[in-house]
Amino acid sequence: MTLDERGTVDAQGPYDTPLLQVDDLHVTYRTRSGDVPAVQGVTFTLERGGSLGLAGESGCGKSTLANAILRLLPTGTQVDGSVLLAGQDILAMKPGRLRSVRWTEGAIVFQGALHALNPVQQIGKQIAEPMLLHRTQPSKGAAARRVRELLEQVGLPGDRARSYPHQLSGGQRQRVLIAMALACEPALLLADEPTTALDVMVQAQVLALLADLRGEHGLSMIFITHDLSVLTDVCDSLAVMYAGRVVEEGPSDRVFRSPQHPYTRALAAAFPTIGDPASRLRPAGLAGDPPDPANLPGGCAFHPRCAVAEDRCRTTTPVLAPVAAGRRAACLLVEAAP
Ligand code: ADP
Ligand code: MG
Repeated sequence: MTLDERGTVDAQGPYDTPLLQVDDLHVTYRTRSGDVPAVQGVTFTLERGGSLGLAGESGCGKSTLANAILRLLPTGTQVDGSVLLAGQDILAMKPGRLRSVRWTEGAIVFQGALHALNPVQQIGKQIAEPMLLHRTQPSKGAAARRVRELLEQVGLPGDRARSYPHQLSGGQRQRVLIAMALACEPALLLADEPTTALDVMVQAQVLALLADLRGEHGLSMIFITHDLSVLTDVCDSLAVMYAGRVVEEGPSDRVFRSPQHPYTRALAAAFPTIGDPASRLRPAGLAGDPPDPANLPGGCAFHPRCAVAEDRCRTTTPVLAPVAAGRRAACLLVEAAP
């Protein structure tokens, strides 16, 4: 226990520690055909109220990283390093405590979660469930009032609580999922490509909603997408992942406007505007696909697709190093900050 700013004892987590500290995180899936090292040494810190964007093509380890933060990985998956959420060690936590932490301290809106709603239950009941389970509301009546409040917060009329999922549009269902994630007032919201399945207009609305919620409730967010341009609007800082590692990070507007790593440059060029579905599938100027984590090329994992790679890139693995104030990149060709 520590003393917070007001001089009172705070057992939940001292306010002077960052909300989330991920240190040298490694995640390896165990499969019949061998090990898949999907995340290989990721380190970052998220301050309270901060927002971090995670970018990178499909298969680069973004969802694995997000799921590891709340330990939502298949049984038997090897996880090393450390994850501290409000100072609490997630990787060492007992299952009961972990289940409660997943709603009350960190909640996730999954990629493709539009199918996650129960088709035969009214959405109000589905939103109320975690509140009653984790006793963040004292009674069914209080939970029902909170459901209406949450629906209004995400821009839906309160009486939508009685609707069934099929009576809502895709964008409305996505709002319901956000309301559900917010039900137990978590300090951290992980949004894993929450808008990828939506059309461009609805996507922009859902993003604006998330940005508002962040401002109003001091929510911290990790926002995942492969569309870099989306992240600059919603996030203070950006981390670009490639082959299970962070290859560039820094303040989002600066990373987007003057990307240093050749991979970030290709991504930034590929997404000049929000939500172009064609470039989303295959970023312009980037031939091929990210490598299979079980079979990474030697040296810099990006070198086979890199337009400026040199011989040394085939043999030397670059580490994240400072390139400017508050910015780091993992590329042998990027000049280090003095
Ligand atoms: P992203 O979210 O960036 O698209 P993922 O984290 O989903 O990336 O995947 C990273 C790598 O891990 C990919 O190569 C993917 O095939 C592999 N992977 C993801 N989930 C599993 C799993 N349950 N078992 C084995 N491999 C997996
Ligand atoms: Mg993913």
